[in-house]
Amino acid sequence: MSEKMSISQKNEIKAKEVEFGGKIFELIKILYPICRSITGDGVRKTLKILQKEIPLEINEIPTKTKCFDWKIPKEWNITDAYIKDPNGNKIVDFKNSNLHVVSYSVPVNKKMKLKELKKHLHYLSEKPKAIPYRTSYYNEYWGFCISYNQFKTLPEGEYEVCINSSLKNGSLTYGEYIVPGKIKDEILLSCYICHPSLCNDNLSGVGLLTILAKILTKISTHYSYRFLFIPETIGAIAWLSKNENNVHKIKHGLVATCCGDRGTFTYKKTRGGDNIIDEIVEKVLKKSGETYEILDFWPSGSDERQFSSPGFNLPIGSLMKTLYDKFEEYHTSNDNLEFMEVKSLGNSLSKYLEVIYELENYTNKNKKSIEKTLKISVKNDPVFISQNMKCEPQLGKKDLYQKLGALTNENSNEIKRAIQWVMNFSDGYYSLSEISKKSKMNLKILTDAANLLKNANLLKEQ
Ligand code: ZN
Repeated sequence: MSEKMSISQKNEIKAKEVEFGGKIFELIKILYPICRSITGDGVRKTLKILQKEIPLEINEIPTKTKCFDWKIPKEWNITDAYIKDPNGNKIVDFKNSNLHVVSYSVPVNKKMKLKELKKHLHYLSEKPKAIPYRTSYYNEYWGFCISYNQFKTLPEGEYEVCINSSLKNGSLTYGEYIVPGKIKDEILLSCYICHPSLCNDNLSGVGLLTILAKILTKISTHYSYRFLFIPETIGAIAWLSKNENNVHKIKHGLVATCCGDRGTFTYKKTRGGDNIIDEIVEKVLKKSGETYEILDFWPSGSDERQFSSPGFNLPIGSLMKTLYDKFEEYHTSNDNLEFMEVKSLGNSLSKYLEVIYELENYTNKNKKSIEKTLKISVKNDPVFISQNMKCEPQLGKKDLYQKLGALTNENSNEIKRAIQWVMNFSDGYYSLSEISKKSKMNLKILTDAANLLKNANLLKEQ
């Protein structure tokens, strides 16, 4: 084995692109039917399947464990769920699609009129054939997701509703695998394993990282490679809280998601935007001759937002094909096996490998981060400092979204965005007007958000 990945190995891998794409697709096909969530047996089953490919370590963190501002929730499991119409016909069956049940639904077994049932039904009138994907992790609730076409045909009468689920003390499960290199400095490659039967978002990322880990196991590398298979948000927060003292080893990283659609590549830059990984991904995409898009960091999306919270600020970007929520199939039953393309999966894998090859051989030691100096508030342009520098605070329990909604009359997406921008960039370096420039959001909503967060003791003025 050579000290570093050699050019010939790289070309060999490139030649095998379709073969590797096929392997990722085979894995996605096996994982697709499993009902996953942020906790539960679906996650364990998924990780056990991955263990057949790589010697993944499976970890359990007990319910109620404190992780920064969060607590590990109760474990959710489900065996069956259905709705029977007034004639006793099963018209919605969890066994046909696990997307039919809102993830984390509490158990229910009762009869009710259509009017009451409708309060628990979710559909997308703009995508009438698709079943939407919905979750309710932190509010006790039950619900079903159906197509709008089906919703329209529901007759009046009494329905029988059953969700055979359990919400009990248990644990959160995640997988971790390290490929040791010559040095202890690490490259973090992370994906999320909490989505049920959805392919691009994110079985494609899970499959890609598994096959990538398998390839790297056979190659001698300079860096050590840490692979994470975690439930989104809470898994990243839990992992960071457990590994707080070791994250300094992480020198570069990527979150793998949406790697199998037929679209062109998208790269979401690191929070700083000027890290080596940003330079390298751009170089790889440019060299490919394919169409691509590079986007500046924004503080929502996937787990990069926890890794990039100001207290960690890890140089982690996200390389994908079409950006989540920019493809029509996103978070619906149409993000299925047919939506995946073997060629795209293979192409994504080869881009990841090229990025790794470039990182391994990176020699420009002159690369320096731009020095930033802490600022103090000036009149009309305050600078805040977050009191939750490490990972996002658990905002759901603090009613802030509702309060800001009442104050600004903005829609809930804008409110959430304003809070995320202010929380992530209030690190003492960015003033509100600079956050406004970066986010392209108006100063008024950001100021309202900052004042509200300050009153809730989540921010302090510098
Ligand atoms: Zn998602």
